[in-house]
Amino acid sequence: MQQQIMGLINPAIALVFASLFLLLWMRDKSRRHVAFFAGGYAMLAGGFLTFHFVSDPSARLPILLMHVFYSTSCSLLAAGAARRVGQHMEPAYFVIIGVISSILMIASTYGLDQNPRLYVANSAYGLIFILGAHAMGLAARRDLVDRAIFWLFAFIAAQFFIRPAATFILEETITAQEYRDSVYYAVMVIAVAVFSLILALTLLASTILDQLDLERKTADTDLLTGLQSRRAFEQDALAMLARSKSRDKPVALIVADLDHFKKVNDIWGHQVGDNAIAVFGQLIRSTIRETDIAGRVGGEEFCIAVWNCSGSAAARLAERIRIALTRAEIDGLPDDIHLTASFGVAAFSGDDGYGRLFGQADAALYKAKDAGRNTVQHDGEGEPELDTLPVKRPFQGSASIRAAA
Ligand code: GH3
Ligand code: MG
Ligand code: MG
Repeated sequence: MQQQIMGLINPAIALVFASLFLLLWMRDKSRRHVAFFAGGYAMLAGGFLTFHFVSDPSARLPILLMHVFYSTSCSLLAAGAARRVGQHMEPAYFVIIGVISSILMIASTYGLDQNPRLYVANSAYGLIFILGAHAMGLAARRDLVDRAIFWLFAFIAAQFFIRPAATFILEETITAQEYRDSVYYAVMVIAVAVFSLILALTLLASTILDQLDLERKTADTDLLTGLQSRRAFEQDALAMLARSKSRDKPVALIVADLDHFKKVNDIWGHQVGDNAIAVFGQLIRSTIRETDIAGRVGGEEFCIAVWNCSGSAAARLAERIRIALTRAEIDGLPDDIHLTASFGVAAFSGDDGYGRLFGQADAALYKAKDAGRNTVQHDGEGEPELDTLPVKRPFQGSASIRAAA
């Protein structure tokens, strides 16, 4: 009785994992590899149940059924883990391994000795895990979790080849009658339970971490411009200021605000306003360097933290963006209407915080607005040398409304 109950623990655990993966997949059906994990553990539960209810370990049909369950389970787990890192595995390989091993297994049940059958089954599962590890090894992506899954696959594959050989050293030939009392059987039951549990927990952790990563990325990115959201920008800017102090490198902050933007919405509509925000964001992205960070910190307000850069050099960068915007074409705006933006720049002195630096740049932005807009103001010593290319026809709020109407 006790053995009967114990025998149901493995399928129950596998079913719990299959359900967990199924629930996680239903939350985001685009991540199909999670459905593969659910299928893999459902198949494993099927294999465990067949194993539990087979009283004659040499009965051919149950053996074959069990092998189909187990090899499908291994295949789904391997294909799912490969898919997770963007690798496609050819299903034909799994079918070939499954068919050849099934034929060999049935053929080997005609003898008294169970060892050949056990070798065939374990080799098939080991081979599937090797294929999975190989596919993962070819993937470009290799973070800590990816590597953990790769090595776990390699380890599981190795134990499928080594474990049978190691236990057969202790007992040379196992007959069907001795099978359930053999050392091989005891070691196998424990190994399969332990490895399937460790693999399930690792895959589950990877699925949850992937989900958290995706949610963080979505929250950190502004959809309209592809720039950072305010929260993410401020977090990274704080880190940049800390680095500036520890490495003794200058940092400057640029704050930019589109001019007369309420009017743009009023005259041409919110969608055109959105197009303008997207174009401005794209301009900023293509102008800054990899080491700089930029975020959309308000509706049509942007912020750039420029690494290893003096205030006057940052003002020149702002000036390049200012000029580029005056030449940019925006969907929905008449060809001869060009939007402008005002910019405030402040250099990080090393002893004030992000709030103070932002305040200085924002004050400079207000000066730029007061000075008639479409200009860069640098709050600091030494005025930058700025190009003052004329704008063909800057949008100047109400004066241009009449012209545009
Ligand atoms: P100023 O030159 O002084 O900056 O004038 P302004 O009209 O641009 O004034 P302000 O910067 O205060 O205007 C912000 C406006 O931006 C208010 C709102 O209608 C618009 N806005 C904010 N977020 C969005 C957005 O996501 N899409 C669109 N289309 N408009 C937005
Ligand atoms: Mg504005
Ligand atoms: Mg504004």
